[in-house]
Amino acid sequence: MNVRRKLVAGNWKMNGNRAALAELAAIAAAAREASGVDVAICPPFTLLPLAVPRAGGLLVGAQDCHSRDSGAHTGNVSAPMLKEAGARLAIVGHSERRADQAEDDGFVRAKAEAALRHGLAAIVCVGESEAEREAGRAVERVTAQLSGSIPELSGEAELVVAYEPIWAIGTGRTATPADVAAMHSAIREALTARFGDAGGRIRILYGGSVNAGNSAELFAVDHVDGALVGGASLTAAQFVPIIEAAARS
Ligand code: PEP
Repeated sequence: MNVRRKLVAGNWKMNGNRAALAELAAIAAAAREASGVDVAICPPFTLLPLAVPRAGGLLVGAQDCHSRDSGAHTGNVSAPMLKEAGARLAIVGHSERRADQAEDDGFVRAKAEAALRHGLAAIVCVGESEAEREAGRAVERVTAQLSGSIPELSGEAELVVAYEPIWAIGTGRTATPADVAAMHSAIREALTARFGDAGGRIRILYGGSVNAGNSAELFAVDHVDGALVGGASLTAAQFVPIIEAAARS
């Protein structure tokens, strides 16, 4: 995998049920057509073992994983459990979890380490609030999150960064291509400063109201190596055109 192939990952959040898995057939068919693109779906934990046998070439991932392998952490799910369920990746540090579960950078880093240690790709999310962007502090905020949340690279499992401006998630508002370009090159710079050539191979996804109408423009931006898609990943009708746009980019 990789050499910065596009990755389009769907995050179903707390949506979807057994019936919704019927969408996977058409999504998987589109993924097979889009041979240069990796496509992932991250349903709720309960659907993971049901999604895996229907994945047909899709990567199935989780929306979180705990930093510990087992223990007294009621309600949490660990990386080895996800691995056993057939997951190939885990999203960590999504802004909704950072807000709802008060997850800080150190905890997000520990989760990413756990995912990587168990051979799951880790998609580490970073992104500024609207107030931080308006105050001209977006790059400063995101680079601080990168330093705090991104683990050292080790082993075979892949680390991916998702830039998701909080004000663009689920709002229908998207960062302008110019803002995305500026942020993604700042992220690339931070990654290469820390990891050298390996930083140049880390995929950087954009997330925040990506849809069929704006995805082609976003995929054309330098250092946009794919997308993390929430609402528009719930149905094949909305998600497939994004996969197709990635294949054309
Ligand atoms: C997300 O869930 O990471 C996301 C970007 O959501 P949406 O595409 O709905 O804004």
